[in-house]
Amino acid sequence: MESCVFCEIVAGRAAASVVHGDDDVLAILDLHPATPGHVLVIPRTHVAGLAEAGDAVGGPIWRAARRVAAALRASGLRCEGVQLSLADGEAAGQEVFHLHLHVMPRFAGDGVVVAAEWRSPSRARLDQDAALIRAALPR
Ligand SMILES: [Zn+2]
Repeated sequence: MESCVFCEIVAGRAAASVVHGDDDVLAILDLHPATPGHVLVIPRTHVAGLAEAGDAVGGPIWRAARRVAAALRASGLRCEGVQLSLADGEAAGQEVFHLHLHVMPRFAGDGVVVAAEWRSPSRARLDQDAALIRAALPR
C-alpha cells in the first residue's frame, strides 16, 4: 500500500495539531483550513471511503464530530455555525483516500462558497430518481 498521510499521523510519524483523540478516531486541524479551526475527524483504521466505513467506523466519527462542533462554538474562535463535509471519491473532491469528515466553523462573510448549478427538477423526475436510489439501497 502507498503511504497514507493520515495513517502516518495516527502512527505518530507525521506531525499534526491534535484536537481530540480516542480509541477510534483522531481529530486534527486541516493544514489548509477554509476557516480558522477547520478540523478533520479521521478513523484510526485505514478506510478509503464510505463503502468501507460501517457503523463501527462511522459511529465514532459522528460522535467526535458533534463534540468538536460543540467545542468550536465554545472555543473563542469565530464560529456562528458549523458545516460538516465528507468527500467520497475523486469526483466528489476527495484528495486523501483515508476517509475524513471536515468540521468547519462558519460565520457571516467567511468566504466559503459551495458552488453548483442548482437545478429545479419536476416532481416526476424527483420521484423517478428516488425510485432508482430506493432500488439500489443495500439490504
Ligand atoms: Zn490511511
